[in-house]
Amino acid sequence: MAGVNDFPARAVVDLGAVRGNVRALAAHAPSAQVMAVVKADAYGHGLVPAALAALEGGATWLGTAQVPEALHLRRAGVTGARILTWLYAPGAPLREAVEADVDLSVASRWALDEVVAAARTAGRTARVHLKVDTGLGRNGLMPGDLPDVLTAALAAEAEGLVRVVGVWSHLAFADDPGHPVVLQQAAVFAEAVALVEAAGARLEVRHLANSAATLTAPALHWDLVRPGIAVYGLSPVPQVGSHDRFGLVPAMTLEAQLATVKHVPAGSGVSYGHEYVVPHDTVLGVVPLGYADGLPRHASGSRDRWGGPVQVGGRRLGVAGRVCMDQVVLDLGPGAQEAAGDRVVLWGDGRDGAPTAQDWAEVAGTISYEVVTRLGARVPRTYVDTERGEPAVAAPTTSTGGAA
Ligand SMILES: *Cc1c(COP(=O)(O)O)cnc(C)c1O
Repeated sequence: MAGVNDFPARAVVDLGAVRGNVRALAAHAPSAQVMAVVKADAYGHGLVPAALAALEGGATWLGTAQVPEALHLRRAGVTGARILTWLYAPGAPLREAVEADVDLSVASRWALDEVVAAARTAGRTARVHLKVDTGLGRNGLMPGDLPDVLTAALAAEAEGLVRVVGVWSHLAFADDPGHPVVLQQAAVFAEAVALVEAAGARLEVRHLANSAATLTAPALHWDLVRPGIAVYGLSPVPQVGSHDRFGLVPAMTLEAQLATVKHVPAGSGVSYGHEYVVPHDTVLGVVPLGYADGLPRHASGSRDRWGGPVQVGGRRLGVAGRVCMDQVVLDLGPGAQEAAGDRVVLWGDGRDGAPTAQDWAEVAGTISYEVVTRLGARVPRTYVDTERGEPAVAAPTTSTGGAA
């Protein structure tokens, strides 16, 4: 595989920021444990290094959507934490999950049956969290279907095959604190918990809160909070407050080297479709990152506006013209002093005027989650640790997995 420095761009992930963000989240939810959600390659930050940093920051649980993500963590030696995984289809490797001591969500009757079968084959008890659809309208047992599945689960518990350790749900409007559906879901959840406890389950954890609820709705913390985006330092409620308002630091800096810098005359069209035409003689700079690397094509510039923001030579510019598959173009201005090889920051921690993933999300009409999560596989992830004395944006010296 090519070395990190062979690619003209990189995502530099500050593991100290991840650790600090988890500490901040724990302080927002002092009565709850923290499950750091590390699905989707830790929102693009690198599954194993991010998970280890989150545990160092005080998380006691990790959450993954897919079973293979959980198994990957165990195989990488992440053994000191509980892991919950919640999204699988019939035929998933549940026996491996039980053998790897991974907690499993159950959101339908077939899922319970497969977990029970997996536990029987594995010869050990499976830990189960019953997931209730309290109003999201996505995965989860409808409250009316909960009693039957609960009865079956407790029968399997009596046989020693499963142990019902959790009841949980997910919110539809957590990013809109005060929305009436949040209160409705909270009430349905409390009823589901009461039903399960009255049936004799000895629950360890009842959990409902994602990042937004962790930061804005203490009444919903229950025993465990499940932040994802905030672990990576991005605000789940940008309309309420930016990351620093919650004591968070964006952990990922996406940077590139200028590939081409050249003078062009007034009237030159830039990039596909000439959506941007330079108004005067100027200097263009080509940044070797495009939509294949996760830059949203919706963050293209046009005649009327700049596209996604970048910082170069201390200035804030925006993408000129369309975002291409592998590259974007900047209008560096007539007197630009930049040269090929100079550093460009696409998004980072927002300090010193650097743009953030949230800024890109706003230009592209999406959410910061999508911006960081879609960072392309070919962009190398490198790791630094500002807390432990390494600069946040130094030339990378470690390869992926450096946290281990
Ligand atoms: C992704 C996810 C989370 C984390 O959500 P954030 O908004 O990123 O904090 C929590 N719980 C479930 C079920 C999820 O799918």
